[in-house]
Amino acid sequence: MSLEVHVLGTSSARPAQGRSVSGSIVETPEGMFVVDCGEGFQNRLVKHRSQMKNYAGRRLKMSKVSAILLTHGHLDHTWGVLPWMQTMALDGRKDKLWVIGPTTSEVIDALLGSETEPEVTPSDLVIQYDMWMDLGATSEALGYEVQWVLGDGERWVNMNDGSQIPLPQPMKKVKISAHSTQHTVPSCAWRISLGERKGKFDRESSKHLPDDVKASLAAGNDVEYNGDVLKATDFRSDTIPGLSVIISGDTAEQAIDSDCDLLIHEATFLQSHADIANEHLHSTAAGAARTAVECGANHLALTHYSARLDRHDESLAEAREIHGSVVALSDGDRLVLNDDLSLTHLIKSEEGWTQQV
Ligand SMILES: [Zn+2]
Repeated sequence: MSLEVHVLGTSSARPAQGRSVSGSIVETPEGMFVVDCGEGFQNRLVKHRSQMKNYAGRRLKMSKVSAILLTHGHLDHTWGVLPWMQTMALDGRKDKLWVIGPTTSEVIDALLGSETEPEVTPSDLVIQYDMWMDLGATSEALGYEVQWVLGDGERWVNMNDGSQIPLPQPMKKVKISAHSTQHTVPSCAWRISLGERKGKFDRESSKHLPDDVKASLAAGNDVEYNGDVLKATDFRSDTIPGLSVIISGDTAEQAIDSDCDLLIHEATFLQSHADIANEHLHSTAAGAARTAVECGANHLALTHYSARLDRHDESLAEAREIHGSVVALSDGDRLVLNDDLSLTHLIKSEEGWTQQV
């Protein structure tokens, strides 16, 4: 079991320095999530999929994408949503797709029936939702079911029927959760985690038992043996939490209220421009590293660089002074979070990927 992240854009605000705007695929054993989907997402996806086929020898099936998770409404994170949904319609998609993102509490109040007119900022997702509907993003027009959900972190509204619902869980064993972050518009980080795994069977304390008793205990059944009841749970260590990744979206430096194994965090600026980062509610590479330490992340991956950064060595150096395991992402890179919690960084090259050692 592993988690893999395909990084399709690492630029902040606009394409620059050969980088494109935000968009990632998180691949789990049960299916995929797309986290953010900026302008031109599907162009990069087409290229990435053919590279995966040619050099990694496997296909990324779009029917396996069960949800688009948006971190906020800025267009460099959302403008690719509708064109890509329309392409999936042309490709004959039939599977349900969730599109989930944050808005303000005032908008949620209004959606749930409050009379007060909410103040809505230009790029709020509720405006984009209305626009997308007008442009044909309905289940009827697309030919596959689309469930649109907006929330304020606490309350979630199914836009299809206006009802309040718990945060949807598009997959059975993989869990998603939204964690508020601080930006100029409502924003959140998305945490994606695999289900808990069974603890290890204790071979040492069961070694005196006959094989059939051992097999039964290992399968989770309590067994009567020599007049005693042996409890299966006594022969297995506690459950092991599933692998987890958090993707920050755009945010000022701030604690994220959850732990994770891998944190993918924006690093728009360097510490030397901390004042501009604060002013625009973005983070520095050092700030991203401090957040990674705070949420106990084993690994930190930097992304979302300002156009003023033509390389990311300084970002990397700055973050590595604070956190022991940091990589700097480029467009097309892949990150594999392995079962043993190690991280493999596959760096995009002309032909396929090279593994960083
Ligand atoms: Zn951004």
